[in-house]
Amino acid sequence: MSAVIMDGKALAKKVKEEVRAAAARMERRPGLAVILVGDDPASQVYADGKKRDCAQCGIYSEEYILPAETGQEELMLLIETLNGRSDIDGILIQLPLPAHLNERAVLSVVRPDKDVDCFHPFNVGELMIGEKGFYPCTPASVMRLLAEYGVELSGKSCVIVGRSNIVGKPLAMLMLRENATVTICHTKTEYLKKECSRADILISAAGQAGLITGDMVKEGAVVVDVAVNRRADGPLCGDVVFEEAAGRASYITPVPGGVGPLTRAMLMKNTLYAAVIHGK
Ligand code: NAP
Repeated sequence: MSAVIMDGKALAKKVKEEVRAAAARMERRPGLAVILVGDDPASQVYADGKKRDCAQCGIYSEEYILPAETGQEELMLLIETLNGRSDIDGILIQLPLPAHLNERAVLSVVRPDKDVDCFHPFNVGELMIGEKGFYPCTPASVMRLLAEYGVELSGKSCVIVGRSNIVGKPLAMLMLRENATVTICHTKTEYLKKECSRADILISAAGQAGLITGDMVKEGAVVVDVAVNRRADGPLCGDVVFEEAAGRASYITPVPGGVGPLTRAMLMKNTLYAAVIHGK
């Protein structure tokens, strides 16, 4: 079997166009504030990408680059100010934060209706009980890709490798909503190969290049690679050994060009959603 490659880049373009068209119909432009603490070059690259996406989608954006030694109170004060501004619909705090800052406490100060990353405990709870609201961008991106390619989820066996709060756990909730039977694997999972090889839908978000080999993929399975790993010799890759898995899967995402670009587009969608909540 030769798998259909799920093109996240093309779909991201389509989603951004949907956002641009909807934003253009609003009385006031949606607004996003991005806060970056410290000078981590990778975080700066991500923040720059978000700025570009906002410009493409007709979303007003502000970027706050704070020194690495910024204190907890100062950061929280900035978030409180942004919470109170009617031109800012979404607030995104670029993670990771420097070690001296309490990440959980900082994220909990963001007003839930401006929490476009869906990290606030209120929104996490809403997601858990199945309410409509913000969906975290990466899991939302996976769901949108699967929907776009018409992948049937109801009654299917879905195995997710990774149990982080930003990918594995929320993705499991979204999959459950669609009536998939979900298994979450992690480093203590005893028989990873056995678990993976019975998946109709196999999603890997471990951050371990080469973890998912072809023999772990069931014939005809749908394989989604969320991970982004940098190989010693340069290029980005996911967890999945692509050529091997593509020989057995029915659908597969590439890295790069799969989940990643669509995740950024989902942030734009969440900012638009926040603006709708705010009656723009
Ligand atoms: P994380 O917090 O480090 O979590 C990784 C998870 O994978 C953990 O639950 C860990 O298990 C599990 N894991 C690691 N190695 C494993 C192994 N050998 N066998 C089984 N499970 C294993 O990472 P994350 O933030 O969720 O991100 C995961 C990957 O996705 C990274 O490569 C990241 O760069 C990428 N990512 C991509 C996007 C995107 O938009 N494309 C967005 C976010 C993240 P334990 O819990 O037992 O440690």
